[in-house]
Amino acid sequence: MTQASWYWRARVVSAYIAARFRPLPKLHDRQCNICGFHGPFGPGGKGTRNDARCPRCRSVERDRLFKLWLDKEPQSLEQKDILHFAPERSLTSLVRPLARRYRTADIAPGRADLVLNIERLELPPASVEAVICAHVLEHVDDAKALGELYRILVPGGLAVISVPIVEGWSASYENPAVITAQERALHFGQWDHVRYYGADLRDRIRAGGFSLRDFTASPSEGVRHGLIRGDTLFIAQKPG
Ligand SMILES: [Zn+2]
Repeated sequence: MTQASWYWRARVVSAYIAARFRPLPKLHDRQCNICGFHGPFGPGGKGTRNDARCPRCRSVERDRLFKLWLDKEPQSLEQKDILHFAPERSLTSLVRPLARRYRTADIAPGRADLVLNIERLELPPASVEAVICAHVLEHVDDAKALGELYRILVPGGLAVISVPIVEGWSASYENPAVITAQERALHFGQWDHVRYYGADLRDRIRAGGFSLRDFTASPSEGVRHGLIRGDTLFIAQKPG
């Protein structure tokens, strides 16, 4: 191979590498309602969503939606005994100071205060006043998990829930033929998800015995804080 062809081959390879690893463009100035950062957000969600993650507090869209809800209903969590599953660091810094008692839980050891399997909670009945459960149900047997949340909550207790959801689907997408990690990533959006929720998430939560309300940000709040349009926080309450 001639020196010239090596030169051009090197040019092509370096151009490919530059294109492959070029940072995503900074799109818009946003305002983080958790840490006060003003400026462009970076990629989030395993790097698949640009304009998603606050570079200062690491919050993503659903964390900032949670903060909007909390600003409107702080009494829901103030002075409560709270259990936070798969804790998001930016939410921990918000909720811990409000709570009377605040514990985090994760199925993986070393990530939280308690190692707990949400399908079989080793906690007494009616022992927790509020649960925060963001993007957990799509990983697990949700009927078991919702049953366990209902069991450990006191009467009147709240479960604040979010999941990836396609509101245009009346039924959640589950597919027993989808088994491998690669298939799950393709069908359900992430290697360890077992379904993609549709609007029937509400029926599943109510079937667990809860009453339910939705919380969605306004269009202007979504623009200001870089939220996913129409993203919903589900506020489930065990009857008092
Ligand atoms: Zn922030």
